[in-house]
Amino acid sequence: MVNEERLIHLFKELCLIDAPALAEANCVAYVKEYLIKLGLDVVEDEAGKVIGGNANNLIATFKGTLSDAPRIYLSAHFDTVEPTAGLIIEEVDGVFYSKSDTILGADDKAGMAPAIEAIHCLIESGEPHGDVVLLFSCAEEIGLKGAAALKIESLNLDFGYVLDTGPPVGTFVTRTATHDKIDITIVGKPAHAGKDPEKGINAIQVAANAISGMKIGRIGPETTANLGVIEGGSATNVVCAEVRIKAEARSTNVQELDAQVEHMIQRFEQAGRDAGAQIIINHVRHYDSYHVQDEELVVKVAMAASANLGMNPVTRTTLGGSDANVYNTKGVPSIVVATGMDKIHTHDEFVSRQELIDTTRLAIEIIREAAKIKK
Ligand SMILES: [Zn+2]
Repeated sequence: MVNEERLIHLFKELCLIDAPALAEANCVAYVKEYLIKLGLDVVEDEAGKVIGGNANNLIATFKGTLSDAPRIYLSAHFDTVEPTAGLIIEEVDGVFYSKSDTILGADDKAGMAPAIEAIHCLIESGEPHGDVVLLFSCAEEIGLKGAAALKIESLNLDFGYVLDTGPPVGTFVTRTATHDKIDITIVGKPAHAGKDPEKGINAIQVAANAISGMKIGRIGPETTANLGVIEGGSATNVVCAEVRIKAEARSTNVQELDAQVEHMIQRFEQAGRDAGAQIIINHVRHYDSYHVQDEELVVKVAMAASANLGMNPVTRTTLGGSDANVYNTKGVPSIVVATGMDKIHTHDEFVSRQELIDTTRLAIEIIREAAKIKK
């Protein structure tokens, strides 16, 4: 039933349109035209203005023939983690790779193309179905910004699916972590390094004292922490006056997360007190975790669809975030559907032809399973 040639063509076309975060306009325009031709009711919101990008979120409604079936959504994001300008796609033994010095961008076109092809197949089959809304977001990779700007509450959705994680196809993420960001600025005191170093307070040394003995990396089965960026200083002959550090921590257990963040902040504050340096902390909860229970409809429908196709219906936990974190927080039960994309965010990224087909079959089956439910 899946039109393989059409699906692969669409997938490649989507990958070939350069769409880094905040500059997805060309890709949005392409998809918008495609969906209008399919006869969907397509609107853009005003996310671009809110988040400072050149593109908006796209909302396309495939009107149902069954008015009492749940109104569901399928979602993917337009932006890629890096630009893909100059991308050359290579297919080796049915697997797509980037042959150029860019990423492929299967994250998240391996979710978007199957979601669109699924709708195309259902239009052709003419079988009964409920309302299906395609939600395609922008600026996901830089902090779920498009999803945050999307007024999903106004779309009257019962539940939905974010096609945005790695294989195996047929599995689903129903539990994720809460993610905190911590920016630390250490303000020491500049002095001439040769003439009177004793008048200075070296911010690099304060940072070193704070970090040595800090627990980072894997804290436990459910908790991780990282120091990702450090910068500061101006010259070797100046006692370093300022260091800026960017850190994060994630956990599926909020108490453990709070304890870890507290530990990291304490280490910096203690080192600052010891040296007489000022410590400025900016701690934000980047997004909240979710845990969608197996008994919920959104999970039952997905698991039944996966089983119908002879896949391996399994729910799993990940510490990675996605638009589903935002949509759950906004009250729409949401889980993440595995696609075939692998080694994402690297130049070795790949996805196979068969997995693109299977993801499409799964999306169709999810819509069919949802259509069996009466609200
Ligand atoms: Zn993604």
